[in-house]
Order: sequence, then structure tokens, then C-alpha cells
Amino acid sequence: MEIRTRFAPSPTGYMHIGNLRTALYEYLIAKSQGGKFILRIEDTDQGRLVEGSVDVIYKTMKMTGLQHDEGPDVGGDFGPYVQSERMGMYMDYAKELVAKGEAYYCFCTKERLEGLKTENGEGASFAKYDRHCLGLSAEEVQAKLDAGEPFVIRQKMPDEGTTTFSDVVYGDITVDNTELDDQILMKADGFPTYNFANVVDDHLMQITHVVRGSEYLSSTPKYNLLYDAFGWEKPVYVHLPAVMRDATHKLSKRHGDKSFEDLVNEGYVVDAIMNYIALLGWSPSDNTEIFSLKELEEKFDIAGLSKSPSIFDIKKLTWMNSEYLKNMDFDKYFELAQPKLEETLAGTALDQKKIAALLQKRLETLNDIPGLVAFFKELPEYGTDLYTHKKMKTNDEIALASLQAALPVLEGIEDWNTTVIHDTLMALIGELGIKNGQMLWPVRTALSGEPTSPGGAMELADILGKEESIRRVKAGIELLGGQLG
Ligand code: GLU
Repeated sequence: MEIRTRFAPSPTGYMHIGNLRTALYEYLIAKSQGGKFILRIEDTDQGRLVEGSVDVIYKTMKMTGLQHDEGPDVGGDFGPYVQSERMGMYMDYAKELVAKGEAYYCFCTKERLEGLKTENGEGASFAKYDRHCLGLSAEEVQAKLDAGEPFVIRQKMPDEGTTTFSDVVYGDITVDNTELDDQILMKADGFPTYNFANVVDDHLMQITHVVRGSEYLSSTPKYNLLYDAFGWEKPVYVHLPAVMRDATHKLSKRHGDKSFEDLVNEGYVVDAIMNYIALLGWSPSDNTEIFSLKELEEKFDIAGLSKSPSIFDIKKLTWMNSEYLKNMDFDKYFELAQPKLEETLAGTALDQKKIAALLQKRLETLNDIPGLVAFFKELPEYGTDLYTHKKMKTNDEIALASLQAALPVLEGIEDWNTTVIHDTLMALIGELGIKNGQMLWPVRTALSGEPTSPGGAMELADILGKEESIRRVKAGIELLGGQLG
């Protein structure tokens, strides 16, 4: 049997990290077994629709490489893949259940249902429907329908017994049927509820493995009763624990946690994000931590899923991101880095490739770039304290002497490049009989005006060019001279 999984996001406007992890696991479950991965847009909750959010979904799938085999934008044999385009069939299936005695029309008004909530005294969020409309005769129902009364269709739960299902991650779960509410399948606006549409669609799309958040665990017995009512084969269930912000709170965009787009905008590399979220609830049998999507497809095994919630640790992601940046092929890295370099260096003649190369091993995120390279464009104002460095054995006097000695030597260089600058400065250090740091630290400081910089004196001088380097060394001399009186 071919494995078929589906990612079924609701278009809410952004990609929640937990949802993206679900998509990744669905993709991996399918791909690790030669199966198909399907994208289905669940837009039946018309009140929650956000314009443009379907595009966010397509874009995310593209960026992450979670290439779906079937979906609204790529087609397939089981479409349409957008629930609002499948409307006719849900009503037909609901009516089939009514005919079978597994569902019934309900005409209760909002007010009446509201009343039930308080009467129940169980809190406003829970009100078990009292089956007021279950007792209506077929004639009564027909009369109300003919009169155009608004209605919903509810699932009729069994009056007794238990329902058990087995979840791949959580094991066997049993509920008392009497606890199950006669949930709404079709809403008054003619749209199916998620609770109904997901079952109909998963069946029609021949989904073999339903992978989703653990918030759906408690509803799954109801879904299984629907499968039974239709006489359909049930899928394998893989519920995933929530991704947490800390020990007690779920990650939540509303509470300021980052979405996938936020992370990308903050300079995280897509591959690193995907690698990191793969580990939020799954671990490989060996202890490797860094893997590409291709490697994950080979390594992934459902048995590695865990039911203990994992905490999204931005520090760990940041570490992983820097590993990705460090080890990335230079051209690919440069492509990612360039827009960030442009932010600061646009309009200058500075060699962005050389600068990017200096940065590659030092970045945590791509967003570090503008701050790290700003000094190339413009020498910042700095204090002479930067010239004092214990390990380099420098202080203001030594720095001033070194810069004064370096200036004519640098002015004399004709062929300005790293090697020549290096050899020239090293020769001067030899002549003066000082330590390397006593020359190189002051030069580096004068060139950058920063306490730390990507690259040392020679690399900075090379990139800045002769004229600008000389100008900055002179500025350093002036600054130190002024300070020392
Ligand atoms: N549309 C549901 C959601 O976004 C999907 C749940 C499922 O995968 O069944 O939460």
C-alpha cells in the first residue's frame, strides 16, 4: 500500500513553527517510505480567513523544499485540494449519515444553545448538546426545512460503550462514548466543520497516515466513529506534542513567538530552521544533529518520534544557524549574504565578496552582517581606549609610535594587496623589534574604529584600499596625538 500523508493548514496568514514541523514530519513519513505528500488547504472556517495567506503556504513549501506531490497548485487525482472548492460533497455525505441514523438535523437557536452553557454550569467553553432535536420526527424536520429554518447537522454519538484508538506516538487512547458531544458536522452557513471535512477529505484523498498536533487527540474518537458510520477504513494516527516556549507555555505567535517568516527575516537560514525543527520531537537513532532534508528523508523513522513536548530553544537554533553558515558553499552563502551587505555597502566600491568571506565564520545570523560591516563604509567615532589591549601589549603610547612608523611604510607600497601589506608590516615589526600585536593591533584599530572586526590589519587594509587606509591611519595618529598632548 502506498503511504499518503497530507499537510492541511488553515490559511491564517503565517506559518507557525509547530505547523511547519507537522508538515516536515508528514513529508518525511511519506518520503522515507516512497509515498506521496499532499497539500490541502482547510479554509472552511470563513471567519478566520486572512487574505494572501494561501500564498504564504505555497511560498513556505517552496522555500523549505517540502515539495508536495499533489495540491491546489500542482494538481493531482484527488482534487480539488481546497476545501471551499469541495463544498457540494460534504452536504451529500452528511445527508448520507442522516439517512443512516448516524447524524441528525438540529434547528436550535444560538440563544437556546447559549442557555445550555450556563445551565450546564461547566464553564462557557463546554456545553454538551442536550439532543433537543434528536427527537424530531421526519415530518417535523421536513416542515422546518421547507420553511427555510436555518439548521446544522450533528453527529449522533453512541449512548454507551467506549471508543479506543491507537496513536503511533501516544499509544492506546480510550474514551467513554457518553463523554462525546454530538458535534456539528455541517454549519448553518452550509460549510462543513473541520471535524467533518477532515474525515471526508482524508478518506477521499486516501490518506494513510494522519499527522497533526496533539490538540486533536481528544477529537479523534469522534472521527473514528465517523469512519465507522460510513464504513470507511481508518488511517494511522500520528499526533505530535506541542512545541513549547517554556515548560508550561506553547509556542504562540499571538504571544510574540516567532513564525517561520519571522525567523527568515531575522537572518536564519531556511535549511538550518528545518534541521532544527526536525529535532523538536524526533531524534535519530545515532546522535547526529546536522542533516540536510535529503539525509533526513533517509534517516527518518516514525519510531524516533517522542511524546514529550520539546522546547523551542532559539540559542540552539542560532548555534545551528552559524554552523550552516560556516559550512555553506561560498557561492550559496554569498547569495544569501549579499542583500544584507547591500543594506550597508550599496553605492561603495568595496569588494563585497572579500568582505563576505571574512564574515562567513563569524556570523550567527545573516542579520549580523550590516552591523559588522558598517565600519568599512564609514569609520565610526571611537575612543583611544580601543588601542589598549593587554594581550597585545599595547597602550596609547605604543599605538601612536606604531602608527607613526607604519604610515610612511604603507604610503610607500605600490602594489596594494594582502600579501604585500603583510610582508611590509612584518618587516617593519622586525626592524622595530616589537611584538606583532604591538603593530597589528593599532593598525587594525585605526582601520576599523571597532573593538573587534572581521579580519585583521592586513585584510582590512586590503579591502579598504590604499587611500582610505592611509586616511584612517592618519586619523588614528591624530586621535592618539591629541590624547597624549
Ligand atoms: N487545518 C487544521 C489546522 O490547521 C489541520 C489539522 C489536521 O492536520 O488535521 O490545525
